[in-house]
Amino acid sequence: MFKEWNLELNQFLILLAIGAFGGWATGYPGWSIALVSVTYSFWMLFRARDLIRWLRSGNDADAPEGSGLWGALYDHLFQQQKQQRLQINNLHSIIARAQQSTNAIRDAVIVVDRYGNLEWWNEAGSHWLGLKTSTDQGQPITNLLRDPRFVRFFNRGQFDGTLEIPAVLHPGVVLQYQVTAFGDGERLLVVRDVTRLHNLEQMRKDFVANVSHELRTPLTVIKGYLETFLDVMSDSNPQLKRGLGQMQLQAQRMEMLVNDLLLLSRLETENTAQPMKPVQVGRLLKQVFSDAQALNGDKRHNIQLDLDESLVIFGDENELRSAFSNLVVNAVKYTPEQGNILIRWWADPDGAHMAVQDDGVGIDAKHIPRLTERFYRADQSRHAKTGGTGLGLAIVKHVLIHHGAHLDIDSTPGEGSTFTCHFPRKNIVDAQTTSRSAAC
Ligand code: ADP
Repeated sequence: MFKEWNLELNQFLILLAIGAFGGWATGYPGWSIALVSVTYSFWMLFRARDLIRWLRSGNDADAPEGSGLWGALYDHLFQQQKQQRLQINNLHSIIARAQQSTNAIRDAVIVVDRYGNLEWWNEAGSHWLGLKTSTDQGQPITNLLRDPRFVRFFNRGQFDGTLEIPAVLHPGVVLQYQVTAFGDGERLLVVRDVTRLHNLEQMRKDFVANVSHELRTPLTVIKGYLETFLDVMSDSNPQLKRGLGQMQLQAQRMEMLVNDLLLLSRLETENTAQPMKPVQVGRLLKQVFSDAQALNGDKRHNIQLDLDESLVIFGDENELRSAFSNLVVNAVKYTPEQGNILIRWWADPDGAHMAVQDDGVGIDAKHIPRLTERFYRADQSRHAKTGGTGLGLAIVKHVLIHHGAHLDIDSTPGEGSTFTCHFPRKNIVDAQTTSRSAAC
């Protein structure tokens, strides 16, 4: 380009020289140079007008003809425009392919901007949620998906879990919602049909609940007869008596198992959630403590209480009793003779906390993440001796989920374990409400 510019400058200087020479020959050198300069300027202006016209037309195929500096300028701009157009076409085809592929996905994919307004969705989004491009684009998503469970889930802003709710437009279909945050506060919502999984899970829950329920009656009959036989049996047949004693023990274990399975089924069924009421956890833990002392027997543990008795939370008393006794019973089971157990209940700025600390056998770190699974045991050989159902910590986990709380397990093999239940601040009943309900 600089070469052309130099050429143009030379041409202009030559023109000026010709003008000056002509002017000198005619006796008007000034006028002659001025005439050459003005003509040259007009010529330049016309070329500039052509350039602007061409740029405005946006038609790169129709580039004006030109030579020298202008020719080089046109060529350069023409090449740039061509490249730009190519890039734009490439981007368009990438976007079109991305849209085609997302439209082929059977899950709904929805993009929501940082203000919570709908930006874009695929065809499955229209199918499952009834979104219409003409009217719904730019609308707040919570105006269109109004189920309060979805609104709460979306507004909560913590997107580590998923939400499963029935589809409004498709009776019998259950949709799973998953949100991922990206970019500058934008969110990607993926909605998929999980009806089959949901039905299978429901069948599993129903099956366990029904079997457990059906086992109750025969178990009661068996236990009743065993008790009667043991009462009337003389000591003349010790073998038979021992056998019946073992049967009674196993029947009791089975009853515990059935009861735990039924409790778990109840906890898993969303709609049976009891309304939350103020629970005097201090008092509740004292009861659990006396039960634990009765259970303690010849192990002679040193069980201590450290309770903030004025601390009351909203909860379900029966469920909390189950969870806390499971933790305390475990501490008694897995702590050797004369060990120490501490039960604590306190509040801090994060919320309310209940902890059971023991200096018992402890748990290897590799087992900790799986302890709340049903029937998972850290030490299979020990469980025959301790005789638990293997459902205790699963029950604790579900009770805590129901209360918006969570369980923390801290343990060192050979040194002991601490199981802590963390309840959110909002569960704490403020002192005024407590004193008012006490007055009533
Ligand atoms: P279980 O009926 O076997 O006690 P749980 O669900 O209550 O079933 O506990 C699961 C497993 O966690 C137990 O088998 C045991 O290995 C381990 N565990 C629970 N509590 C403690 C504890 N306080 N100390 C050591 N191990 C424990």
